[in-house]
Parts: sequence; C-alpha cells; structure tokens
Amino acid sequence: MTNTIKQLAIVSGKGGTGKTSIAASFAKLAKQRIVVDCDVDASNMPLVLPHTIIEEIPFLGEKKAVISQDRCRGCGDCVIYCRFNAIKDFYVVEPVLCEGCAVCTMMCPYEAIDMVDNQSGTVVISQSDDQPFLFAKMGVGQGNSGKLVSELREKAKSIAEEDNYNLIIIDGPPGIGCPVISSITGVSHVLIVTEPTLSGMHDLERIIQLTKHFRINASVCINKSTISSDNIEKIKEICSKFDIAVIGTIPLDMDFVKAQIAGKTIVEYPNSVASQAIKSLWERISQLLNL
Ligand code: SF4
Ligand code: SF4
Repeated sequence: MTNTIKQLAIVSGKGGTGKTSIAASFAKLAKQRIVVDCDVDASNMPLVLPHTIIEEIPFLGEKKAVISQDRCRGCGDCVIYCRFNAIKDFYVVEPVLCEGCAVCTMMCPYEAIDMVDNQSGTVVISQSDDQPFLFAKMGVGQGNSGKLVSELREKAKSIAEEDNYNLIIIDGPPGIGCPVISSITGVSHVLIVTEPTLSGMHDLERIIQLTKHFRINASVCINKSTISSDNIEKIKEICSKFDIAVIGTIPLDMDFVKAQIAGKTIVEYPNSVASQAIKSLWERISQLLNL
C-alpha cells in the first residue's frame, strides 16, 4: 500500500525570525519524521541537531566552460563575446564568474572550449536521533540553489517511500525567491514564522502572497510575540485580510539564546516559556496535518 507522506514547510519572509529553531524543535517533537534543511545557502540546522553523516552525494549544477590550452589559438573572440567577463588573461575561464551560457563555445572558431560538469554543492544524508536528516553544502559563489533544494526534497521523498516515513519537515530558506518556491511547492502545509517588527510585517505579506499564488495551505506563527502588542494586532489584521489563521504565539525567551549557544533546541529546555509555546504549536500542527 502507498504511504501518504505529509510535508510541512517552515518559512519566513525574512531571516532572523527563529524559523530554524522552531523547525529543529519540531524535528525533536515529531515521533517519526524526516527533516530537511532546505536553506542550502546558509544551512544552520546541523548546528542544533547533532547528527552522524551517512552519505555525501555530489550535486552537479550548471556546466562551466573550460578552454583547452592545446586547441586554443589565442584569437580572443571568446573574451569579446563573454558578457560575464569570465575569461581572463591567457584565455582561462574563471569558474566563479562563468554563468554556463555556452556562448563562448559557439563563437570559438577553433572549437577549443568545452562545457564540463561542475560540482556546485553536496547533498548530505545523515541521521539525527536515529532518523533521517538531510541538508546540503553549497559551494562558494555557486548558483542553482533552487535545483539543489529540489534534489534534497526528491531524496527525502524517496527515503520516506522506502522506509515508510509519513512526515517530512522542511526548514525553508528566508525570503521569497526561487529556493523558497522550490521548498514549498507541493507541500501539505506551510507554517510562516513572523515577528512583530516593521520588517517582519512587511515580509509577512510577501510570503503570504506567495503561498496564495501557489494555492498552498498556510498558517502563521508569531515568534518573539512579547516585543510589541500593537504590532501583534497589525499581524492579525494582515492575516485576516488574507484569510489565514494565526495558530501560535511564542514569547521572547532568553532560553532561545542559551539553546543556540549550547547547540541544542529550545524544547530541550522544558521549563522555558518558549518551549511550552512550541509544544502547543506542534500539537496544533499535528492536528492540521492529521498526524
Ligand atoms: S575563441 Fe577559442 S581560440 Fe580564440 S581565444 Fe578563445 S578559446 Fe582560444
Ligand atoms: S559559458 Fe558563458 S559565461 Fe561562461 S565563459 Fe563562456 S561565455 Fe562566459
């Protein structure tokens, strides 16, 4: 029988809202799950989830141009046509600048340029609390974050199908760009983490609009809720305008900082008020997902 896999993505319109701390706490609270850190450009979850690496798989991004020094006649045409200024002195391609457009290969009169595979990152499969934890290492200056996110999610899905996991928890990147879209496409539910600040509210509208555009079920959680009661009301107004529920508030709690310094999740501090709020939030999410 086919296993029904629920996918929960935790996102925020901006960085610094506490999204990863909440996602890592969910990973601790869920009985049976796969967790995926899709913030491939700045992966932080491995810092708070102790893990053992099982496998590292090279991720091939876009191809890059390589000039054969044997075949090159030094005519300079490639330098003229490369609009990214990626070809340097003595006709060597600077891989970080090469965008993989392949124009130079078409313009070289001596067929001296090849497009070759380029490892732009690594998919890491690990175990945390004896359950799968996937994350990625993106190479410096490499693009294709969205494709790497899709690769991570595909891998997680195949592990879930093989090993009968019914929940994938996704820690999405901040913002509303391509990697975020890759992180939320096709998920069962998106939890948007916001905070009662001006930038938090501005970015909240943008990420809600994104979930509406893709017709994905979403709800909102307000972290650091004790910062401003006025702004809490404004967040509720925004959510009501978009017909989206606020399903949790988490007070500002210095135990968050203690947990980060110790490389732990906040739910490992059971007496903290934030920990209790996250546990209630998890119960609500479990009901929504019918876990
Ligand atoms: S266009 Fe071809 S032959 Fe001319 S400099 Fe570039 S690589 Fe060399
Ligand atoms: S592939 Fe495009 S970006 Fe790269 S060196 Fe050739 S022309 Fe420049």
